[in-house]
Amino acid sequence: MHVPTQDLRAQLRGVEADVRAAIDRVLASGRFVLGPEVQAFEREAAAWSGALHAVGLSSGTDAILAGLMALGVGPGDVVVTTPFTFVASVTAIARLGARVAFVDIDPATFLLDSGKLEAAITPRTRAIMPVHLFGLMADMPRVHDIARAHDLAVLEDAAQAIGARLHDTPIGRGSKGATLSFFPTKNLGAMGDAGMLLTDDSEFAARVRLLRSQGQEPRYVCQAVGGNFRLDELQAAVLRAKLPRLEEWTDARRRVAGLYRSLVSARGIDPLRFQLAHEPASARHVYHQLVARTPSRDALCAHLAERSVETAIYYPVPLHLQPAFASWGYQPGDFPEAERAARETLALPIYPELADDAVAYVVDQIAAFFA
Ligand SMILES: *Cc1c(COP(=O)(O)O)cnc(C)c1O
Repeated sequence: MHVPTQDLRAQLRGVEADVRAAIDRVLASGRFVLGPEVQAFEREAAAWSGALHAVGLSSGTDAILAGLMALGVGPGDVVVTTPFTFVASVTAIARLGARVAFVDIDPATFLLDSGKLEAAITPRTRAIMPVHLFGLMADMPRVHDIARAHDLAVLEDAAQAIGARLHDTPIGRGSKGATLSFFPTKNLGAMGDAGMLLTDDSEFAARVRLLRSQGQEPRYVCQAVGGNFRLDELQAAVLRAKLPRLEEWTDARRRVAGLYRSLVSARGIDPLRFQLAHEPASARHVYHQLVARTPSRDALCAHLAERSVETAIYYPVPLHLQPAFASWGYQPGDFPEAERAARETLALPIYPELADDAVAYVVDQIAAFFA
């Protein structure tokens, strides 16, 4: 049996008619940038997520960049975040000439360790950027307490966490905003690049809208240095066709993850530890990825590859050790948990349409490896 890490074609089969109708609508309209589809998608995404405002943007990366620009982050400022995330969380900060202060991760959740957060804050700190990695929300109550005490903005990188909740609170609540990515492999994927910023702050939303279209208001009068961060009509129309299915897809991901967890535990595969070994009822993990750790990660991945089970490594190099950020002067050993996670974690196949017998096959192969 061949088990891929994801299967976007399987998902498309379930929505193909709606997607084709959406694309036809855009072709017929002759509007391709910031038209009625974007407006409608923004309304529908805001209603779906419970945010007051949703601003459609060109990618998850640009959503972070536009959000930080709207916060006024610039040279001399410091943004606190995790070293164990996709590089886009941090390049946006670097592009604005700001510095990053990393905080090591909690080895059980792979997320920014909120117990170490306060020690990283200095008078230059402007913002905190928690990342809800793999679909699990960071410890937002604690992050918000610390942000309030130090008068800092919080911008959540929720690229992997659309639909996630913690203590019944969805992404973005209580923060300045949350950014989403609709890269095709994300839980809600476009057919190209797309992103969004969710916020309950009307002024902040207006600022992001201004910046996404070259800071022009009215057209050809430039009020602020922005960029081209616009979402196009085709992507918005595709996303509108898929949004009504997201809840069902998320439930399917959670069911697949639950099956993996129960099979791994029934087989007594102790050396394999999932992100959040015991999923508390207070967290709704949306399983963008199902990630586990084991000290014999590389050998396990090779064993699975030989048996046609694809795995992926998110992420093999923690951000403080990336060549692009060498000038920041971080050294191996600075964030030992992030470094250990980079060595020990692997992502198992997970997607809404993944069949139970495929999950059982993967777990059989894992059990054989550890036997
Ligand atoms: C995907 C992703 C991004 C960037 O989104 P793009 O749409 O690819 O630009 C940022 N942060 C995280 C954590 C991501 O997973």
